[in-house]
Amino acid sequence: DNVKEAKEGETFQDLYTTGEALGKGSFSDVVLATHNESNMNFAAKVIDREDMKRKGAKDTLELEINNMKLLKECPQICRIQDAFVGDSICHIVFELLPGGELFSCIIEKGSFSEREARDASISILNGLEFMHSKRVVHRDVKPENLMLKDKNKISSVKLSDFGFSKYLENKNACRTLCGTPGYLAPEILERWPAYDVECDMFSFGVILFLLLGGYLPFDPNSSNDTNAIFERTRNGDHKFYPTRWNNISPSAKELVAQCLSIKPTKRITAKKALNHQWMKEKVAGNKV
Ligand code: ADP
Ligand code: MG
Repeated sequence: DNVKEAKEGETFQDLYTTGEALGKGSFSDVVLATHNESNMNFAAKVIDREDMKRKGAKDTLELEINNMKLLKECPQICRIQDAFVGDSICHIVFELLPGGELFSCIIEKGSFSEREARDASISILNGLEFMHSKRVVHRDVKPENLMLKDKNKISSVKLSDFGFSKYLENKNACRTLCGTPGYLAPEILERWPAYDVECDMFSFGVILFLLLGGYLPFDPNSSNDTNAIFERTRNGDHKFYPTRWNNISPSAKELVAQCLSIKPTKRITAKKALNHQWMKEKVAGNKV
């Protein structure tokens, strides 16, 4: 990767040629972008700032860009290549992650072997450990925001979509209710005491639960009933149904439970999770 950042005055159109659509966000379209000089492919997020303003959405663009720039060296975080900020249309250029969302992978496969779940977990946790050490919280960790570099290699998963991310200068500096029902941590719902980076570990716990068990801990019947999901999240009300969890190692369950701890102070950190017993055990490579 030796493509240089744009020089002063150079526009996105000067440097890149756009191609096929790759995805769609709430106020953005993500398209393939080829760097003209090097012929290298990237993903460009095209954001309509005026549309955001019209619809009263919070414009977090500058934060998204600045926070991602702090995380450029981490191999498990989608790398920001460049950003072109205009008053109406903005372009953010990212490393291309052609393997698609972990979400699609889960749907296609139904469930994962413990070994696959662990491979994905190690990558996600390395990304989280790095960003938390830089005091950046993601706040929307979910399978839709985890993308694969290589579709056939689960360990190539990377954290993306830093639209809700925040740099924390002080301890417990978060108050905003944000995230996605089913994945967001109980302390975000309470908003008091104010919360910190631990909320991402709760979301990771939900993902690990989903990868191993094949259902969402706080929405086991996929009801999408937000009030019921929030009620269960607040109470830590999740069940390891024996039909789904019988063949899964006790240490995996134990790690999941430590991630889903209601109290953020009791929750396991990314660094500690990487050293958890489950990471060292011999685990099943066959489907569960
Ligand atoms: P939003 O913040 O609006 O949710 P995202 O950053 O999540 O937007 O991007 C929207 C979609 O675009 C993603 O869900 C994904 O399908 C696709 N996408 C995002 N980043 C990349 C990338 N680096 N490579 C390939 N596709 C991407
Ligand atoms: Mg997204």
